[in-house]
Amino acid sequence: MHSETESIEQFRARARAWLAGSDIPVVDEDLDARFTVLRRWQKTLYDAGWLGIGWSTDPGGPGRGPLHRLVFAEELARAGAPSPIGLIGLEVVGPSIDRYGTDAQRSELLPRLLSGDDIWCQGFSEPGAGSDLASLRTRAVVDGDDFVVSGQKIWTSWAHEAHWCALLVRTDTTVRKQSGISYLLVDMSSPGITTRRIEQMTGDREFCEVFFDDVRVPSSRLLGAVNEGWAIASHTLGSERASAAVRRRVECEVALGEAITELRTHLAAVPESSERRQRITATLGRCYAALRTLDGQTRRTTTRLVDGVGPTPVDSVDKLLLTHVEQLVFGDLAQLLGPLRAVPDAQPLGLPSGRWAREHLYSRAASIYGGSSQIQRTIVAEKLLGLPRG
Ligand SMILES: Cc1cc2nc3c(=O)[nH]c(=O)nc-3n(C[C@H](O)[C@H](O)[C@H](O)COP(=O)(O)OP(=O)(O)OC[C@H]3O[C@@H](n4cnc5c(N)ncnc54)[C@H](O)[C@@H]3O)c2cc1C
Repeated sequence: MHSETESIEQFRARARAWLAGSDIPVVDEDLDARFTVLRRWQKTLYDAGWLGIGWSTDPGGPGRGPLHRLVFAEELARAGAPSPIGLIGLEVVGPSIDRYGTDAQRSELLPRLLSGDDIWCQGFSEPGAGSDLASLRTRAVVDGDDFVVSGQKIWTSWAHEAHWCALLVRTDTTVRKQSGISYLLVDMSSPGITTRRIEQMTGDREFCEVFFDDVRVPSSRLLGAVNEGWAIASHTLGSERASAAVRRRVECEVALGEAITELRTHLAAVPESSERRQRITATLGRCYAALRTLDGQTRRTTTRLVDGVGPTPVDSVDKLLLTHVEQLVFGDLAQLLGPLRAVPDAQPLGLPSGRWAREHLYSRAASIYGGSSQIQRTIVAEKLLGLPRG
């Protein structure tokens, strides 16, 4: 049970003890089966009070925040436990609803978002408006007490399972493009919404195209003010970049630790002076060093979040460093495993091929989601280094 005077070390010990006594779910390869298991896992975490720490609806009260969230994410990964399914709600759109929502929106939407009863998706990207997000064309026209929405989104993760969508729409075409965007919270069961799944190179199909055909959205579902959605979208994207760096750093570290344990056994039987041995040790040394750099950066991020600073252009540095490290670690390990990683159920160097092949493929997404690496570098150049725009 949480107490007002609990230190961060006591919080960590409590999380570790709780996880040690929990039934950690085994994650299925099949996406639909994975969804069901991880949604149930989210509910278990929520009921035990581990989700929504530091939010306005936190039953644990004030005094807990980003540091506690980081510690729990670390303990979750170290226990070999998966993340809950609703990460888009928990890490991307939820923090913006908590910050910009009305009391009615917060109390209606956040508890169900945290428990996984409601799954959220993020309707930002469109064909022709990914990197250049401000050019989005999905329209919302006011009609009585409703907005009427028409248009198309793409790459919308989990839209086919989602109950709600955080949707960016154009509400004014006569002003500078960033100034004519609004942020709507859309019930995905509304008439006029169609989703179509897209297959990725991992074989999963969590991406969707989403079509809006004269969808009526009550004006009470507007987040913030009309035409002021761009600032909220920046907050959402900043939350996405910072939290992905913090969480993925721990996940990569745990994955590398597991690989090192296996490879240590394997190396014991390999002659000291062999080329193979040198290749494996050099690779592991490089990956470990890269992860330490990311660790240093994410500690600064946590301090920034604890101080309530952000979103800031430094979130783009986090995202770039995460991408570099994640692709280095999983790319290097994939190289070590060689072509056998593509053979189901093989165990090159004692490591399960399926898992490492999937991690390698998924790591390629890091330089795209939440804004591509080119876009992050432009943000750093313009906003942190003061270089001229364009
Ligand atoms: C795993 C994953 C999950 C995602 N989930 C979601 C989601 O849930 N919701 C959502 O809305 N979107 C989602 N996306 C989409 C993602 O935000 C976009 O793919 C991303 O913003 C890039 O947009 P785009 O695909 O249209 O590429 P484009 O914008 O067409 O870019 C193509 C290439 O050109 C480069 N480029 C474009 N403009 C410039 C420029 N000005 N300067 C330099 N280089 C440039 C880009 O860096 C990229 O390499 C997801 C993507 C991935 C990979």
